[in-house]
Amino acid sequence: MMSTGGLALYWLRDDLRLSDNPALSYALRHHASTLCVYIEPPIDEDDPPAQVWWRREALLDLSAQLGDRLIYRVGQPRQVLEALLHTHPIEAVYWNRRYAPSDQAADSAIKAWLRGAGLRAHSSPGDLLLEPWTVRKADDTPYRVFTPFFNAARRHGLMPPSPSVTTAALSRLVKPTTSPQAAIARLPQRPWMAKLAVEAQPTRAAALEALDRFAVDLIGAYAVDRDRLAQAATSQLSPYLRFGQISPREVVARVQGLAGAEAFIRELIWRDFSYYVMYHWPDSLENNMDKRFDRMEWHHDPDILSAWRLGQTGIPMVDAGMRSLWQAGRIHNRARMIVASFLTKHLLIDWREGARWFEYTLLDADLAINRMNWQWCAGSGVDAAPYFRIFNPTAQGQRFDPQGDYVRRWVPALSALPAKWVHQPWAAPPEVLAQAGVRLGRDYPRPIVDLKAGRLRALSLWGQIK
Ligand SMILES: Cc1cc2nc3c(=O)[nH]c(=O)nc-3n(C[C@H](O)[C@H](O)[C@H](O)COP(=O)(O)OP(=O)(O)OC[C@H]3O[C@@H](n4cnc5c(N)ncnc54)[C@H](O)[C@@H]3O)c2cc1C
Repeated sequence: MMSTGGLALYWLRDDLRLSDNPALSYALRHHASTLCVYIEPPIDEDDPPAQVWWRREALLDLSAQLGDRLIYRVGQPRQVLEALLHTHPIEAVYWNRRYAPSDQAADSAIKAWLRGAGLRAHSSPGDLLLEPWTVRKADDTPYRVFTPFFNAARRHGLMPPSPSVTTAALSRLVKPTTSPQAAIARLPQRPWMAKLAVEAQPTRAAALEALDRFAVDLIGAYAVDRDRLAQAATSQLSPYLRFGQISPREVVARVQGLAGAEAFIRELIWRDFSYYVMYHWPDSLENNMDKRFDRMEWHHDPDILSAWRLGQTGIPMVDAGMRSLWQAGRIHNRARMIVASFLTKHLLIDWREGARWFEYTLLDADLAINRMNWQWCAGSGVDAAPYFRIFNPTAQGQRFDPQGDYVRRWVPALSALPAKWVHQPWAAPPEVLAQAGVRLGRDYPRPIVDLKAGRLRALSLWGQIK
């Protein structure tokens, strides 16, 4: 298409990629030249969440892909945009949509301000397969249950990727006078972040490699193997999706038609459902969807919470999951469900405590997905697992980590225990513990809660609120 305008501004946010980027391709198609700006959100400099590391690396990678044709600024979006409008003859501003309530409000205010100033301001679909207002029930209310939402999404059809941007079009991006690299590199770095780098590669090339490996080797067995804790049987795409280094539309386009793809696409549609829930019930990010849970008397015990956070509960399956989160910023989906059930049921701690800890430690922390899943696990959410279904972490471990390899990897103090005892060292005969070099209470904690008693306590509380 012929370009019709002069200078445009593409405002880059959680969409750190050049392909399937509707706002960027629109700007490049319709304007003679385009500036690309990234505005750094406020960061807790003293105690940055693990995600800051991923974002820093992802931005450096994108900047390299752009040949440094990227303006990087720290500040409030309105002020940064105002300054750019002041120094450049910008005619239009484009971005891809975000769906969190605070982002929506901020973007609407900016759109109104830009239009009021006589500029063109245009938003395009964000990183979803279906925008949240696309499907509704026959009575015109939003779906609260996943399966009918899934069926409606399938009937409606998922959005395809947008046309790719050519190298010639990319050359119409304006190069700023100063390279953004030095400013991006100033994002907080901490010695512990080096551990994250051992396993994670936050680049677009690594995202494509992960997708390819998954599509070629793993997708056929995904439906069965996705629960096996010691196996890397899932796509590992979540942090790339979180930062938009790859879009869900690109992922679906790569896998559809392959044997096993439907089970995987279903999970991607769960991702969309999280955004759908956040959009239609913004208050679910903080409040119980099931109001009976407002009466729940959650326990407030900083020592117990700290033991859970740092993987010191004495329940190997829980500790393995929590230590992998603390050390690597990752945790297997099955382990997420187990540790969340344990926190909200055996320990009776508010799901919001768990959600906040995940948001601080996870590399893929995503407000919509995290909050919906925490409410799902706690039993208080839309289409949630019932509260009375309480995972037994020992039985879960024996089922999904039968040889104990996942536990041994993250809890090395138990590495010499035979599979029979590795998920329940407290029940192992003294000679077995001695032979494995495990002194309970010294090398590895004793359980902070009796699993049977904890379960009964949770059920009794549930009886009172239901
Ligand atoms: C308590 C709890 C908190 C969670 N918090 C997050 C979070 O902050 N960020 C996040 O990306 N995922 C979260 N999940 C969902 C899921 O655990 C991860 O998406 C998954 O483990 C990432 O690994 P993968 O990319 O290999 O997933 P795959 O199994 O390969 O799945 C592909 C993609 O589908 C989506 N997906 C998978 N499972 C779910 C799900 N249950 N809900 C919504 N989308 C899903 C993700 O985008 C994922 O990358 C959470 C789950 C639970 C139980």
